[in-house]
Amino acid sequence: MSGEIKAVTLDIQRLSTEDGPGLRTTVFFKGCNLACAWCHNPESIALKKQVQWLETRCIGCRLCLAVCGREALSMDENGIRRDREKCLLCAACAEACPARAQEIKGTEWELAALVREVLKDRAYFGSEGGVTVSGGEALLQIAFVEKFLAALKKQGVHTAVDTAGLLPRSVLERVLPWTDLILLDLKLMDAVAHKKFTGADNGLILRNAEFLAARRREGGPELWIRTPMIPGATDTAANVAAIGRFIGEKLQNAPARWELCAFNNLCADKYRRLDMDWQYAGVPPLREAEMEALYSVARQSGARPDMVRRSGATRTED
Ligand code: SF4
Ligand code: SF4
Repeated sequence: MSGEIKAVTLDIQRLSTEDGPGLRTTVFFKGCNLACAWCHNPESIALKKQVQWLETRCIGCRLCLAVCGREALSMDENGIRRDREKCLLCAACAEACPARAQEIKGTEWELAALVREVLKDRAYFGSEGGVTVSGGEALLQIAFVEKFLAALKKQGVHTAVDTAGLLPRSVLERVLPWTDLILLDLKLMDAVAHKKFTGADNGLILRNAEFLAARRREGGPELWIRTPMIPGATDTAANVAAIGRFIGEKLQNAPARWELCAFNNLCADKYRRLDMDWQYAGVPPLREAEMEALYSVARQSGARPDMVRRSGATRTED
């Protein structure tokens, strides 16, 4: 195993129950090639490290302003502001802050160190759980991720890859031998809407979905499809029905699961800390009746009804 290859991760989430079977450790890699309007992990979009200010920790001592040689920080009635044009990500403010209110997002890992880190959690993997690579788009750091998954497989660990699928076929080919489960997002079937809401055409993603389903039928990794239910974007009966038809006809019902994931706005604070606007900040979760209706559409769409799941909280009031 090479000690030189490195990757940038955002976070390691332990005891995860949403990224594959059993109890898992999910490694979130930084960097993404989509620009989904509703993205719930804005810190994962940029490949490079970022610094963020945590208002609730700040004691207002102004030490960070004093140490910033770029004069990138200022303070007003709303707290600390960072001029991201001036900021060089030197981390001096984070090192100086006595309250840990300036936080670096992004950790550089060597391969062997990250393998060791996740194997610490082996005790709770059991027979079903394991490790999931997610992001961002983890497969943008393919050289590292391929070796990371291979190292885990050689240790007998169940591996899952969470991907948006906007990648050359050759990239997917490289991880398949080391992957037990692919979690693939299918967001929108309409090409124009997909481009509008994610910034990219969905043609390659759909072709990759067909490729992964074909490989599944030949004994390749298990395949789960996930569709976020985003108000005003993906949450239409027409979109859910079209994805279901695609799963039934083009994927020949090869996936074991198709999960409709209800939108939430819990990440609004993440955008604020990064000084980013988010158009969904004030958008409430779906009503329970709306989510149930979409679930019903999915079950009658042509996808095998028993593969359809729903997840995420909804609201019951009007
Ligand atoms: S990371 Fe460095 S340049 Fe950026 S605000 Fe902090 S001290 Fe200034
Ligand atoms: S150094 Fe930390 S606690 Fe002090 S003003 Fe800056 S962010 Fe707030």
